[in-house]
Amino acid sequence: MNLMTESTLHEAEFYELIDYDEQIVCCHLCPHECKLESGERGICKARKNIFGKLYNLNYGFTEMRIDLIEKQHVYHFFPNSRAQTFVTFNCNLDCDFCTDPLKSFIDPEKNPAKKLSPDQAIMFGMASGSKVICFGESEPLISYEWVRDTAKLAKERGLKVLLRTNGYFKEAPLREILRFVDAVKIDIKATNNEGYIRLCGGGNFEHVKNSIKIIHEMEKLIELSIVIHDTFNNAEESVRKLSDWIKTELSPGVPLHLSRLKPAHRTKHLLPTSLELLEKTYNIAKEMGLQFVYLDDVPDHDSGNTYCPQCGELLIKRTSIGTEARRISLQGHCNKCQSPLKIIMS
Ligand code: SF4
Ligand code: SF4
Repeated sequence: MNLMTESTLHEAEFYELIDYDEQIVCCHLCPHECKLESGERGICKARKNIFGKLYNLNYGFTEMRIDLIEKQHVYHFFPNSRAQTFVTFNCNLDCDFCTDPLKSFIDPEKNPAKKLSPDQAIMFGMASGSKVICFGESEPLISYEWVRDTAKLAKERGLKVLLRTNGYFKEAPLREILRFVDAVKIDIKATNNEGYIRLCGGGNFEHVKNSIKIIHEMEKLIELSIVIHDTFNNAEESVRKLSDWIKTELSPGVPLHLSRLKPAHRTKHLLPTSLELLEKTYNIAKEMGLQFVYLDDVPDHDSGNTYCPQCGELLIKRTSIGTEARRISLQGHCNKCQSPLKIIMS
């Protein structure tokens, strides 16, 4: 068990004292905007008001792993590279299909994970030989100050930074952290606000869309994903709507991953998404004009490959054995027709 004392805690950023006498603070990290009395913690459980100051209880707590970057379902950012992944804890949503509820809803004061300073984390990252540092699993932005400090150091030491988030955060902290991030994977939960409330107990798509637009506007590489299942919503209509929004508001070149449900947490009684429905939604997204659509967790399916949107050449082949860059240059151009593509290879 962690022994947290005020002197070992890390003061949070993006909050204000809204009642001096009652020591009430308001956290501005995410749109929940929790108003907390002294002793209370926010919805994420990881930020606590102690006598009128807000603390990030998760600063430094992490588990490390080295994964192939494809494990994060990110296909256009250093394909087939190893990424040093820092797993963080807690979340500001509560999705029915969360695959790791033990980490997402842990009590930070009982977290058995190791505590690393940003410097120690980057030393491990560099020693592993990975050129990419990834913050993923649960919601990394709940550990905001540690992730930001570590990402900043990673950039200073020449590493690339990938962030995997649900995108339900306020604009100011998002803009601040994006200064130190190269690529972002956003896991969209639903294509309307009702869907967020039903599936995640809160959150809303408008805020998530705003985050995506900011990331795109700041010219970060972005990949999007959504879990498809016939009990969640009208999957076909959702994918049509989402594809249209991506094409109109972002670019048809932004990759969209359609993910198969892995029954977990409150969806253990459901079956994984049928291939038939996944293929239907894949065809809809392609017909809507998206250039890069992928089916996740359907091994050895053609939809896991990357094809040139101009000439149709197979650029990157993905199978259950691994990923192979075939006809793409180090600059991210199709080797056949020379079209420049937003795929970062080196
Ligand atoms: S980050 Fe946590 S404490 Fe802050 S507003 Fe969001 S849920 Fe509340
Ligand atoms: S956003 Fe991710 S980590 Fe958070 S509850 Fe949903 S699935 Fe779990």
